Amino acid sequence: MMVRIAHAKLLSGLLSVLMVVFSLGQASANDKTPAKQLFGGKRLPAVMPAQAHGFYSKGCLSGGIAIATDGPYWQAMRLSRNRRWGHPALIKTIEKLSNDAALKDGWPGLLVGDLSQPRGGPMLTGHASHQIGLDADIWLTPMPNRRYSADEREATSAISVLKAKSVVVDPNVWTDAHGRLIMRAAGYPEVQRVLVHPGIKKKLCETWKGNRRHLNKVRPYYGHHYHMHIRLRCPKGSRGCKAQNAVPASAGCGKELDWWFNVALKPKKPPKKTTKPTKPKKPKHIMLSDLPTACAVVLNSAGPASEAAVTSRAGGSAQTAYAPVKPVQSPFALPALVPVPKERPFVQ
Ligand SMILES: [Zn+2]
Repeated sequence: MMVRIAHAKLLSGLLSVLMVVFSLGQASANDKTPAKQLFGGKRLPAVMPAQAHGFYSKGCLSGGIAIATDGPYWQAMRLSRNRRWGHPALIKTIEKLSNDAALKDGWPGLLVGDLSQPRGGPMLTGHASHQIGLDADIWLTPMPNRRYSADEREATSAISVLKAKSVVVDPNVWTDAHGRLIMRAAGYPEVQRVLVHPGIKKKLCETWKGNRRHLNKVRPYYGHHYHMHIRLRCPKGSRGCKAQNAVPASAGCGKELDWWFNVALKPKKPPKKTTKPTKPKKPKHIMLSDLPTACAVVLNSAGPASEAAVTSRAGGSAQTAYAPVKPVQSPFALPALVPVPKERPFVQ
């Protein structure tokens, strides 16, 4: 009997030593591997309470859910990237926007671009932000009145609203509905800013006839003429979420906008040639240790058994305040009985 107990003790001792060695190995691997590789390798979210940790460009996400690939008024694009994850508050806002845009703004539906990775964090390609599940790229191309195939979702390109090689909006592409879509998003209280190209901001400054109170939330930025970028404020309950500065109170149609056209977007003169050889800069990667400490837990915690358990159901649930919608015939439509995550905020 004694021998057997001693044997068991020895075994369990060995096991714990092995576990320590394993976790140390894991820890040192996490110390040396850029965070984008660690987070980019996760296929499913951390099953934890939904929280945004850190800042939009330096953080991670727990309890994320995926927007359904198809809803009545949206289609998620570039499915192979696996970046349709976000804080439930973000998924709720996108679904609400799709509905409002289609039913009130004459915008047939959203083509949804990148949100976040399943656990947020830095990405292997593109995007400095989109790390905490509160950023979404929405294409400025209206949804067609048919469902794209999976291949089309990879290959179809968004259409720029700018005239070719210019910084002004193309009147042949831009419609009033583009303006209504952008201003709809800016009008939501949970949205802190909407990033668009300065040419788009200028167009809105000059032509927007509706309520101009939220024009200050439409922020000019480089790029963003194929898509707009919606950013939510830190949601309630995300105590580790670092808020961004408030947007200025003024509409931003004066001097601030002029600066973009007179300085920022002016073609740059080529740099003077020097004979000095320049040292190639080593790229500085964000490491796990640069992120909030909660992100190590998020990275290493267990995931759900399947994606279906954490995917929003196309069309919302019966309890949503959405107007009744026609069911969508789609090869991507989810079965009627997809389990809905507990954190899903639509019931409130
Ligand atoms: Zn973006």
